[in-house]
Amino acid sequence: MKYSLIHNGTLIDGTGNQPIYDAVILIKNNIIEYAGPEDSLHIPKTKIRRIDAGGGHILPGFVDGHLHIMANGFRMEDTIHNPLSLYFYKAVENMRLTIEAGVTTARDAGLADYGVKMAVDQGLIVGPRLQVSISPLSITGGHFDFWMKSGFDIKTSYPGYPDSVCDGISGVRRKVREVLRAGAEVVKIMTTGGVMSINDRPEFSQFSPEELNVIVEEAGYRGVGTMAHAHGTEGIKNAAEAGVNSIEHGTYLDNEALAMIKKRDIYLVPTLIVQKLNKEHAESGTIPEYMVEDALKIMDIHRRNMKKAYKAGVTMVMGTDCGVIEHGVNLQELGLLCDVGMKPMEAILSGTKIAAQRLGWQDKIGTIEPGKLADVVITKTDPLSDINSLGNPDNIKVVMKDGRIIKDLPR
Ligand SMILES: [Zn+2]
Repeated sequence: MKYSLIHNGTLIDGTGNQPIYDAVILIKNNIIEYAGPEDSLHIPKTKIRRIDAGGGHILPGFVDGHLHIMANGFRMEDTIHNPLSLYFYKAVENMRLTIEAGVTTARDAGLADYGVKMAVDQGLIVGPRLQVSISPLSITGGHFDFWMKSGFDIKTSYPGYPDSVCDGISGVRRKVREVLRAGAEVVKIMTTGGVMSINDRPEFSQFSPEELNVIVEEAGYRGVGTMAHAHGTEGIKNAAEAGVNSIEHGTYLDNEALAMIKKRDIYLVPTLIVQKLNKEHAESGTIPEYMVEDALKIMDIHRRNMKKAYKAGVTMVMGTDCGVIEHGVNLQELGLLCDVGMKPMEAILSGTKIAAQRLGWQDKIGTIEPGKLADVVITKTDPLSDINSLGNPDNIKVVMKDGRIIKDLPR
């Protein structure tokens, strides 16, 4: 039995409660035993590892509700040129950057297979705990169909990563069963085209309402949730009507879509950072030409609509789409959530407690409370007075995951 005691810091525990100054956190092995003011702690009379927070802020490990840990910019030519093994080795670095940015748990929105999750869980790779969707369901010619007009199919392909293109009622039902068989813990559905698509546009609806109903139903038989990539208005509404658990991106949502999302208690994962960086990359000419037009157009519309969604009281989860953009910039999303209306404390909750709820892992992670896994971040700066500071990994001093210190910057 091993005890650790984090002391000399201000605790923001992720419950939404006010910060506690001079707080301590007592951890037994990998579980939090106590978190609160120092004077009410009964310290066990045994050897204790003391971790000095250095007067910084102590927060729960962050949860990124939407990233692609295996992706490095979705450059199609990589799939053609690179040996498959390189793809996995690159992901090792992606994971290190992510956890060192303060993200201890992530929902992978497509590409990571079950073995990647296992490698992290078994401690072979240092990285965030993963909830995996494996392969996102896509219609023929849709957002995750990599069949080119040349006739070549350049999708990544190997055992354990089922092909995810499907059509028709029986086709989509079978495909849900296949991704669940491969270990999907959430079913990802492409209900519209995308910015990085070769064959479509973000506004296009994909899958019929009937197909979406069947996908949600079949996942529901196993108690598995669904997440819908949706930019276009109709695609958002179709997904909401089918009862998905979260809408990803939500670019062109209108008042009617907002009302549907609210009524059904669907979470929205705005991924503001990918829109911002895509636009910057389009302006500097560093993304493929087929993405440029959409990338330039979409950011302002998206931001306007996310402000509306926030005002309407929609529950928002911090998600980034890292992988489409560079890894390790995850917590820049917190500042962007504040740009659409959140207070810093709300942004922190969207990346901790609320994100954990969306993953269904709220009993294990998301707050610093007794009984939870010891996923802890210690920052050099005060996120309540400078939320943007968390977007710089240099300000993330300590990262602890499951009771183990992953990062500890020298003073
Ligand atoms: Zn994505």
